[in-house]
Amino acid sequence: LSVGVSLYPEHGRDPADLLRKADLALTVLWRSNELGLRFYSEEYDRRLRSLGELALSLDQALQDDEFEVFFQPQFTMDSGMLVGFEALIRWRRKGEFIDPGRFVPLAETTGRIAGLGEWMLERSCMEAVSWPEVNGKRLSVGVNVSIPQFHQAGFVATVGRVLSGSGLAPERLELEITESVAMQSFESTLAKLGELRAMGVKLALDDFGTGFSSLSYLHRLPFSKLKLDQSFVRELHSSRPQRILTEGIVHLGSGLGLTVLAEGVESVEEFGLLEAMGCDLVQGYFCAQPTP
Ligand code: C2E
Ligand code: MG
Ligand code: MG
Repeated sequence: LSVGVSLYPEHGRDPADLLRKADLALTVLWRSNELGLRFYSEEYDRRLRSLGELALSLDQALQDDEFEVFFQPQFTMDSGMLVGFEALIRWRRKGEFIDPGRFVPLAETTGRIAGLGEWMLERSCMEAVSWPEVNGKRLSVGVNVSIPQFHQAGFVATVGRVLSGSGLAPERLELEITESVAMQSFESTLAKLGELRAMGVKLALDDFGTGFSSLSYLHRLPFSKLKLDQSFVRELHSSRPQRILTEGIVHLGSGLGLTVLAEGVESVEEFGLLEAMGCDLVQGYFCAQPTP
């Protein structure tokens, strides 16, 4: 049970205002994934205002050219060969970077992610076309796709249009999708992923192990890469259960024929442990930061 509460007369005297404030308290409670009782606070109204302002400035930002694409390289673990890059969005507003962890979810919940995502896809593909081959191999570009963006009608057509517009070979594009994509409607998700695969586009399962992972998705959905979430990497040293889980996931992925990439690798110790477990690829500050 979740209850938002506002008090008369402390929070207001007008019934509509009191109800709005109780509702806001309830929303804050839900957002924090808690149950129980939450009293209204003026702080919530301040937060709401600044989120609203941020959402509005998102619209302006595309026109004002405030977004940039940064690229973070991915390497093979055994030979240290460069195989591709993940494209990461950056928003520079008045000289300061705003955390994607803040504005991406906001863009998702306020219906602005499709435009932003399409811009990212276009920029990333256009950029990747000009990359040289490395040891005779073509470099891949990973682009993140939000769940609402993926479920939009016309998403597959957009990807096709961007590919032909940029001239990027479809095999070089890798769409990164989180496992929660399949939570809503498995059959339509499967169909859409199938269409993308048929175009030649590669699919990577992002942040694996953090959502409501259903292991059966691993082989029922046409992914070719599994990106082990960095929360596993962070705890490799401190937690034996986490180490065992990580090793299990790596074996599971490899056994199913997926390429396993470890995300957020920051130290030589982490690198060593993951390599010994049989991870194929690595991405993280230990190798390189995302750069323009
Ligand atoms: P993600 O897709 O899992 O991206 C990896 C995140 O880990 C990036 O954060 C990257 O900068 C960070 N990272 C890489 N190596 C390390 C490391 O060694 N240590 C640590 N602590 N972090 C590392 P970033 O760029 O802040 O992006 C955060 C999330 O925002 C992304 O997670 C992705 O879910 C989302 N995002 C970023 N760009 C886009 C985009 O263009 N579209 C969509 N839909 N989401 C995006
Ligand atoms: Mg990603
Ligand atoms: Mg990730």
